[in-house]
Order: sequence, then structure tokens, then C-alpha cells
Amino acid sequence: MFDSDIIHNSENRRRRYVNDIILLAACLLAAGIILLIIRCAQDTGGYIEIRIETGEARISDNTSGEEGLSVLTGSCIYPLNVEREVIIEQDNAVNILRISDGHADMREADCPDRICVHSKPISKIGESIICLPHGIIVTVIDAPTYSVNDADENDAVTW
Ligand SMILES: [Zn+2]
Repeated sequence: MFDSDIIHNSENRRRRYVNDIILLAACLLAAGIILLIIRCAQDTGGYIEIRIETGEARISDNTSGEEGLSVLTGSCIYPLNVEREVIIEQDNAVNILRISDGHADMREADCPDRICVHSKPISKIGESIICLPHGIIVTVIDAPTYSVNDADENDAVTW
């Protein structure tokens, strides 16, 4: 009777030890998955900012219904989750930026080097497509740095 109690107790202890290890492993796995989800969510940007560094540009798109916004060395911000084509027109210069599936991609440009067109689509915060000849910088950002109300006459925000 005494012997079997000892065996029973040590069996219980071993089972509890195994359970603890399984619980710990499950916690670590859950923590790992949560960290991975947070990391993915952080890296993927919510908006793109189109900056015009030189001269005046007309920026229009096929979803807002607006006839084009005049921008003087300002910037436009678009959400990445709305599909659209953004047309950036300057004197004798046109760039067409496509936003789809959370990515922004320069589809067409009449710049001489066409480096922007050959750039890979961007989707992560900090990634950018630069059209040097046309002075255009497209960057993925986390959130708009200013609201529509804050925008002065040189800036335009389009949703
Ligand atoms: Zn270009």
C-alpha cells in the first residue's frame, strides 16, 4: 500500500512536470505568433505620400472624382487599401502610379531613365519609388503627418 502510494505520487509529479512544459511551450508559441502578427502589422504601411519636389504638378485619380489638384512642391497622401490610379502631370511630364492590393507601383512615366517604372512595388513603411527627372518621391508611411485641416495652400490631401 505504502509502495504504491509513492509510485502514484511520483507518477503524478512527472505528469504535472510534463504538463508544465507543454503549457510553457504553448505560451512561448502563442507569444511568438503574437509578436509575428504585430511585426507584420507594423511593417505594412497604411498610406503613400506623393511628394513633388520641383515645380507645379496636377495630381488626379480615377476614384476621387476630382478634376485634379494643383500642388506646388507639396504632397498628396492616399490610403493603400483603396484601388486607384493616380496621374501626376507636370509640364511635358506624366507619371501614372497604381495603387492596388496594398501596394503602390509606378506603371507609366515618360522620364528619360524610367528607373521609377522599373522600381519594385512598395508596401512597407519607409519604402519609396523615386522619379528623379520629374522630382517625384513616393513613400509608404504609417499615417498622415497632417490632417486636411492642417494642410496649407501648398499641400493637398486626397482620400
Ligand atoms: Zn521616372
